[in-house]
Amino acid sequence: MRVGIPHETAPGERRVALVPETVGRLGEGIEVVVEAGAGAAASFSDEAYREAGASIGDPWSADLIAKVAAPSAEEVARLHEGQLLIAFLQPLTDPSGVGRLAAAGVHAFALESVPRITRAQPMDALSSQATVSGYKAVLVAADRLPRFFPMLMTAAGTIPPAKVLVLGAGVAGLQAIATARRLGAVVSAFDVRPAVREQVESLGATFLDVGVQGEETEGGYARELTPEQQAAQQAELQARIPQFDAIVTTAAIPGRPAPTLITAEAARALRPGSVIVDLAAETGGNCELTRPGEEIVEGGVTIVGTTNFPATMPTHASQLLSRNVASLIGLFVTDGQVALDWDDEIVAGACVTRREALV
Ligand code: NAD
Repeated sequence: MRVGIPHETAPGERRVALVPETVGRLGEGIEVVVEAGAGAAASFSDEAYREAGASIGDPWSADLIAKVAAPSAEEVARLHEGQLLIAFLQPLTDPSGVGRLAAAGVHAFALESVPRITRAQPMDALSSQATVSGYKAVLVAADRLPRFFPMLMTAAGTIPPAKVLVLGAGVAGLQAIATARRLGAVVSAFDVRPAVREQVESLGATFLDVGVQGEETEGGYARELTPEQQAAQQAELQARIPQFDAIVTTAAIPGRPAPTLITAEAARALRPGSVIVDLAAETGGNCELTRPGEEIVEGGVTIVGTTNFPATMPTHASQLLSRNVASLIGLFVTDGQVALDWDDEIVAGACVTRREALV
């Protein structure tokens, strides 16, 4: 069986789906073909892939293609019937992309659709990449903030620590809290899921009670708030956020536009020099002023709308993603042959096209 690793073509995408370290761990009977230069932007040379046992060549004719971003229309045209594909396919928000793959007869597995059950944790690419985003968002906030994060006592006077607020304390939010704490900031956080309070407090942050409590779905995600709850949350946050120097927002509802937590009015009420890093920018943003893919300064407040933070740390983001991808491949292959077990909830849950044909 052959696994193909293409060079990513989406603008700004610097990750690669499989790193040399993982090539040798795929198991007996699996050959890996890597497109020339596929790992270069993530600091993995063709030579390193060769040393790991891969060959450099055309990845598109392989039995299984592993990618980071969903294939473009031109890339889909290079796929053929019966191939397996693993990538971030955005199945909830890009039905036409999934439709193209179905029309091409490809068995496509979306990394986002891997069920978040305990057995699937090694394949949980949403979590591995959210960890990168949460960490990097705080570094960017610290970089843009014209103040120190830690408290400093110097001969020239005492500097108080920065106050950081993290909105949405899922995987990215918890990593943001931990990172901001390590940098010495005083951290508060809020999430609508009631179970999160304890996790926030165990990281040494304060849970900011905004008087709104949401529900958790069976999958562990938040349910969308009612319009009344959303309005109450926005009003309470508007009153509370001017005391913070940096705000990292991560609130998301799978398949839905990001909830607005910070209205334009609330953002404008922040002190000049404050920073908002909006990790929900890709799905519209948690701040009304966020411009996806851009960084703006309005009324002295910096609002960062970077949409692909993991691509800004491509080496480790790719390394973690590669382990997720390899674990998923391990589930699809027995003795060097594709053997899909549709009774396995991970296989069935992750497949977004044509599953009948391979039964
Ligand atoms: P996510 O990226 O979908 O959302 C981020 C956070 O935003 C969530 O914590 C959500 O509760 C919060 N949120 C949504 N609306 C909000 C609002 N209006 N105000 C404030 N916060 C809001 O979520 P995620 O980080 O991918 O994961 C969420 C959950 O899934 C967590 O409970 C996590 O522990 C769980 N999970 C389980 C597993 C597993 O068991 N294998 C793996 C990963 C994650």
